Amino acid sequence: MNAQLPDQHGRTKRKLRISLTDRCNFRCTYCMPEHPTWLPRAQLLSGPELLRLAGLFIDQGITQIRLTGGEPLLRPDLLPLVDELQGLRSRGLERISMTTNASRMAPVASRLVQAGIDDFNVSLDAIDADTFKNMTGRGIAPVLEGIQALQDAGASVKLNAVVVRGQNEHQVLPLLEWSMQQGLPLRYIEYMPLDAPGHWQRESVVGEDDILAAIGVAHDVEKLPRGADPASPYQIDGHFPLGIISTVTHPFCASCDRLRITATGELYTCLFSRLGTPLGVRMRAGDDDQAIVHLLRRAVWNKEPGYASTPGPVDRPVLMHAMGG
Ligand code: SAM
Ligand code: SF4
Repeated sequence: MNAQLPDQHGRTKRKLRISLTDRCNFRCTYCMPEHPTWLPRAQLLSGPELLRLAGLFIDQGITQIRLTGGEPLLRPDLLPLVDELQGLRSRGLERISMTTNASRMAPVASRLVQAGIDDFNVSLDAIDADTFKNMTGRGIAPVLEGIQALQDAGASVKLNAVVVRGQNEHQVLPLLEWSMQQGLPLRYIEYMPLDAPGHWQRESVVGEDDILAAIGVAHDVEKLPRGADPASPYQIDGHFPLGIISTVTHPFCASCDRLRITATGELYTCLFSRLGTPLGVRMRAGDDDQAIVHLLRRAVWNKEPGYASTPGPVDRPVLMHAMGG
């Protein structure tokens, strides 16, 4: 039995999101500025450094890892890294997932499935090509090809869509109906204040109630009992699973079991933390495993209550694309 990673508010951490890179080939309006500044490449953790850090988290009680970014498919050593991660299953790792824009997925989908990625969340904010382009700065065709390639490879796939007022709220119903046709579970995500400073406005948030109202016009919506997932679960027309992550209008901080590390190995215990713990820097300075574990356990214990207690934008230099959503 592995150790447990508790925080001072009685929550136990089980899930770790690892940002493989801060770089991205998309420019989603709600995630990063038009002209982002990338981290110097030399500061990004190497494959072996990431694996060492991931292993220490597993030993402390993490059972699920999600690879994210930036865009994880831009990481040149992604396939060997996924292969190596399999070795952590014998230390307690149960699930390896990926969150991706899928635009570069088609050529590697079957290899990633074979290499042992258990499930994929694909970001798809609109099914209308113009709306998609306006929100992400890129075309939808390679993303749909990527989703198809994952389905062909037998992967477990879910869709994620951030809803921003004035950009894609008219897509809530068409995207739901497309997802139902494809048999791909969908989660809507409220727009959170994690992008470039001064960009997010409360008025731009399309809340859970607005999303439900848009769907309710054409479909039966049944609320299901809430589990450990951050999304409020619903069933559409008696069969289709829909989730809504309503961090802004109904924060779920009390049951949060997640941690995040950036591509430089900085630990953020909450999406909204103002400061991280520079585990990668300490590793490179020569700290041994025991010292890193001490630092990470202390940081987790001190985790803040979360967005529910301090709503609004966070004043910090690390934006969503560097944090790992
Ligand atoms: N590039 C990959 C992708 O887009 O799926 C992985 C990284 S992205 C930062 C991870 C998730 O964060 C995506 O589902 C994205 O829609 C979400 N996200 C980014 N900025 C957000 C924001 N300001 N509010 C809510 N979700 C956001
Ligand atoms: Fe890139 Fe994902 Fe951010 Fe869009 S949400 S800019 S795809 S990291």
